[in-house]
Amino acid sequence: MENKTSSTSITNGFHLVVDAMKLNGLDTIYGVAGIPVTDLTRLAQAEGIRYIGFHHEQSAGNAAAISGYLTQKPGTCLTVSAPGFLNGMVALANSTTNGFPMIQISGSSDRALVDLQQGEYEELDQMNAAKPYAKAAYRVDRVEDISIGLARAIRAAVSGRPGGVYLDFPGDVLAATLDTETAARSLVRVVDAIPRQLPAPESVKRAIEVLAKAERPLIILGKGAAYAQADADIRAFIEKTGIPFQPMSMAKGLLPDDHPQSTAAARSYALAQADVVVLIGARLNWLLGHGKSPQWSPAAQFVQLDIEATEIDSNRAIAAPVVGDIASSVSALLAMLKPGQIRAPSAWLDQLAQHKQRNQERMASRLAANPDPMDFYSALGAINGVLADKPEIYVVNEGANTLDIGRNVIDMRMPRKRLDSGTWGVMGIGMGYAIGAAVVSGKPVVAIEGDSAFGFSGMEIGTICRYHLPIVTVVFNNGGIYRGDDVNHSGGTDPAPTVLMKDACYEKLIEAFGGDGYYAADPQDLAKALTDALASGKPALINCPIDPTAGTESGHISNLNPQSNITEKK
Ligand code: ADP
Ligand code: MG
Repeated sequence: MENKTSSTSITNGFHLVVDAMKLNGLDTIYGVAGIPVTDLTRLAQAEGIRYIGFHHEQSAGNAAAISGYLTQKPGTCLTVSAPGFLNGMVALANSTTNGFPMIQISGSSDRALVDLQQGEYEELDQMNAAKPYAKAAYRVDRVEDISIGLARAIRAAVSGRPGGVYLDFPGDVLAATLDTETAARSLVRVVDAIPRQLPAPESVKRAIEVLAKAERPLIILGKGAAYAQADADIRAFIEKTGIPFQPMSMAKGLLPDDHPQSTAAARSYALAQADVVVLIGARLNWLLGHGKSPQWSPAAQFVQLDIEATEIDSNRAIAAPVVGDIASSVSALLAMLKPGQIRAPSAWLDQLAQHKQRNQERMASRLAANPDPMDFYSALGAINGVLADKPEIYVVNEGANTLDIGRNVIDMRMPRKRLDSGTWGVMGIGMGYAIGAAVVSGKPVVAIEGDSAFGFSGMEIGTICRYHLPIVTVVFNNGGIYRGDDVNHSGGTDPAPTVLMKDACYEKLIEAFGGDGYYAADPQDLAKALTDALASGKPALINCPIDPTAGTESGHISNLNPQSNITEKK
């Protein structure tokens, strides 16, 4: 006898997740397989989603976050329950802090047992644990809600100020079955996930009026401006008005660093002297001295373009807020600007030019020095020389001195090519960002890493080799955190807390996975190794010994480092 139900086809939660992702153009998963999502990784790959498997969830999350920043599509990270979930949380929190759109999807254990705390395998109330670190956190409790859950996650990640979203799929929901018709009806395709948010015309008018009175105007470009992909209009506004601009680190290259209006080489002077400042996708946080004296003039007036209304007045009064998406706001400014209405005064440009020249000469002499062993400047100068005619190459940069000096030495010429520690000044993003950038773009990446920063995610060179990604990792080995020459104040034989290993053979690590290892002890060797490594297109690691005494404690932010006045034990 024919059984009626057996002729109805049955599907399950795993298939629904994959179908919902594909329907919404989420074509890549960065993750670590394990209970209860192992079969999700297999099925996703079988169905044409690219799966990049990592050694640690934090790097998978960082790769997802940076792919979100580069593409405006939420990067997807997949983690297993409890510990895997928590490992991914640092990346999710970092992505929320930086305004990068990402979704961390995690499997989770049996809710009935978790909620009664009955000691389930990998027991954790993940959704509630995620809430403080995520822009939004959702849990899907019924298999037919999988696609609506993903739709909510996508919207939350990319609309308004982007951020990290947590999406929880308990194992039993993934395994639950339903008939294919119900499954098909449950699918949701997100329409207009990033709706334009037009600024109010009166806010645009007010901004132009404030700016028109400026004697020393300055534009600050932040990574929100880079994210917005409004490159041509931002450039047109800057060039039409002649206003000098200062890029925040990840906005470097939005206009080329050698643009005549860039104040990068006269940063402190420009900030302190400006009388009207236009913030475009940059927050007045610690990276900009909270908008206060001594970095800024107390009398300066601020115009701020941001999508997040509550960002306005967060640190100091904003005279002219323009709340809207940056593409719409900049195009509205351009449309309302009358020819010749705003023109940066030449006296101001002359003063800036003088300061720029003085600082550029100072930098040139630092770069020209050829100390043995290399210092940060000579090594970075060699890299900058190699990259000068390769503007399409992504530069990932982390470390303390490696980051701070790297930001000043490495010139960028194209938008969204510089990826670094960002808003938190976090270490450990390097390999994840490099992998995410290489995967979404197919373009080469050079990751310039302090030895300490590299250590956080160094095992991912295995991932780089497994997927044959064109990433060259340069380890600046000064043998420690900040510096490599600190002493143990107890008089004992353990190394000092900030000391790592200056003779470590980092190049051998990548050889273990089949990549190319290089050792470069002077700028000529480094330039040659980098040129060869980039030409080969293969995964490579260049170990660069740097003078252990060359760095400064905490790099350029030693003011944030409290001191104990420790004395030596006799
Ligand atoms: P930076 O560190 O480069 O100064 P921040 O991360 O501090 O940059 O600031 C970026 C700002 O840009 C955030 O306040 C965020 O709300 C805003 N932002 C991000 N994307 C957009 C967008 N598409 N339109 C408008 N503002 C945006
Ligand atoms: Mg170091």
